[in-house]
Amino acid sequence: MLIPNMNYSHLKTSYLFYNIAQRTKAYLAEHPDKKLLRLGIGDVSLPLCDAVIKGLHQAAEDQADASTFNGYMPECGAPFLRTAVAEHYRGRGVQVADDEVFISSGASDELGDILDLFDRSNRSLIIEPAYPAYVDANVMAGREIVHVPSSLDNGFLPLPDENTAAELIYICSPNNPTGAVFDREKLKAWVDFANAGGSVILFDAAYEAFIEDESLPRSIFEIEGARTCAIEICSLSKTAGFTGTRLGYTVIPHELERCGMKLNDMWVRNRTTKTNGVSYIIQRAACEVFTPEGQRQIHENINIYKNNAKTIMKALDAAGIEYTGGKNAPYIWLRCPGGMGSWEFFDKLLNEMQIVGTPGEGFGRCGEGFFRFSTFGSPEDTEEAARRLAKL
Ligand code: PLP
Repeated sequence: MLIPNMNYSHLKTSYLFYNIAQRTKAYLAEHPDKKLLRLGIGDVSLPLCDAVIKGLHQAAEDQADASTFNGYMPECGAPFLRTAVAEHYRGRGVQVADDEVFISSGASDELGDILDLFDRSNRSLIIEPAYPAYVDANVMAGREIVHVPSSLDNGFLPLPDENTAAELIYICSPNNPTGAVFDREKLKAWVDFANAGGSVILFDAAYEAFIEDESLPRSIFEIEGARTCAIEICSLSKTAGFTGTRLGYTVIPHELERCGMKLNDMWVRNRTTKTNGVSYIIQRAACEVFTPEGQRQIHENINIYKNNAKTIMKALDAAGIEYTGGKNAPYIWLRCPGGMGSWEFFDKLLNEMQIVGTPGEGFGRCGEGFFRFSTFGSPEDTEEAARRLAKL
């Protein structure tokens, strides 16, 4: 008898964004004349920058000529892009070798797939509130999850203590949903903890490009000792608007080994077995992101989102609402006013102001009573939403 993966039956029945979509759909069915201001789902609204578009066109031309045509790409990534990413790190003083960079089609894929490297018995520590995919990927894999709640009291940046025990540790900094960013000292505490006990940190740096405070680490490999205990997973989705174009990268240092097994070698084996790489056209275009002109252009777009953040923060300040994030992250995490619950506040914003946000409860139990705004919407919608929010 075929037995399906029964771990799927332990997944929470409805996914956060599905629930939001259902409620907004029902609202629009009843109020077809209303326009919604969407500060909910974390998708970008600006198009790809010119440098990337030119790269896409050029790469398409390459595929039209036998002398420049590419078939299968190397499974771990095109050498030109692995070098470009590694040089991007090295340019910031972080030593990463070209063959420590693996090109992927996005961070989500990697966050789930990377679990292949670790024995089923390993526990996964997830700092909550958290990006929901961490929990779901671990539930699907039948892994024990150690939930570590965080709160306003610790700035949503909990540290390990004598009771902390897990073999895999997810750290997302800048954080989705709280916008909190680990400083060097706090990140070092996790690195030391991981090295002392032999755990491995899965560092999700999907939002590193939003860090403007130079003292904050954009990569875990800026922290001494990280090369023996961390894997960094990154993405161009939010950095360069690649949510629909798809490209990410993962850094696995050669020094990272457990039980005599080198995780970099294991991942090479994994990728060469389970993927046939990312398309030539996308990798070639992604390369443009790492040129000086590409960097200038993507930061122009990032600054538009950062202005959205300022607009929302001003409105929340005016309304006297407590929040974190917004400065070094594209998310603003606020405490629902008047002691309201997350979904209660969601309904209030939807019904009274036609604003769609994300209820904090969807990111873990300790997110109850909190709410997330994304700054990826259009400036016009964000300004209109801010005018309404200031009246809260
Ligand atoms: N990690 C975090 C923290 C995210 O918020 C997201 C997307 O919202 C991802 C990873 C997924 O990124 P990608 O589009 O590269 O799959």
